Amino acid sequence: MGDDPASRVYVNSKKKACAEIGIKSEEYALPAETTEEQLLELVQKLNNKPDISGILVQLPLPKHINEETIINAIDPSKDVDAFHPMNVGKIMIGNFDFLPCTPAGVMELINETGIDVAGKECVVVGRSNIVGKPQAMLLLHKHGTVTICHSRTKNLAAVTKRADILVVAVGIAEFIKGDMIKPGAVVIDVGMNRLENKKLVGDVHFESASKVASAITPVPGGVGPMTIAMLMKNTVKSAIIQSEK
Ligand code: NDP
Repeated sequence: MGDDPASRVYVNSKKKACAEIGIKSEEYALPAETTEEQLLELVQKLNNKPDISGILVQLPLPKHINEETIINAIDPSKDVDAFHPMNVGKIMIGNFDFLPCTPAGVMELINETGIDVAGKECVVVGRSNIVGKPQAMLLLHKHGTVTICHSRTKNLAAVTKRADILVVAVGIAEFIKGDMIKPGAVVIDVGMNRLENKKLVGDVHFESASKVASAITPVPGGVGPMTIAMLMKNTVKSAIIQSEK
């Protein structure tokens, strides 16, 4: 909804990924003044449309729309972002159909390093519902010893320096510097921040951090593409779920 430039970029990337792997996608670009009732009607229509197996509402929504109301209206079996409370609860229990795309992508990246999460000190900086909290839960499922930091954490650097695996999702450009990282740590940078000169940077100061970390994700080209890959995975899964109904 509306004309948020970042949302436009994300939606285009998702549509492109669908086209590349043969998933049919439909875009409903609604004007900013669309009412909550109209948006709910559309979600209901897509819930009942048999050839639609996955639904994604691109956030953020304009202020007059209650995001929670809209997410709650999505059929949980078509909720490929895994934001519906039923899916969030299933993730908490560890018996889930879908994982939220960004944290799931981060887990794939950690897996690629060959590091076994079990018993490792894992620190997640950020506690949002879409990244930080589910990320911590996924690391816990893999038996990490997990600490979650946020804006009220005291002496952040002392906590981040303990991390064997550090996941950063704060939304502040180049916030975590090399001297806040334990030598040899695996560093995953979820952040995407546009500087005034239009350059895209992460929440980690790559230059100083890459000298200390054993593995580190770049921005762009790290977590972002993995998020989209996980969305495709969820969509295939939802198609299978719909076909078995
Ligand atoms: P939110 O703004 O929802 O959450 C930010 C979190 O960072 C909050 O929990 C906040 O704490 C914490 N925080 C803020 N300031 C500090 C500080 N000084 N010290 C420690 N913690 C702090 O952001 P999101 O989780 O939605 O996104 C985070 C970043 O990841 C953004 O850059 C976003 O663009 C990016 N992103 C990237 C995606 C991708 O696909 N690559 C997908 C989703 C997000 P508190 O709760 O106390 O306020």
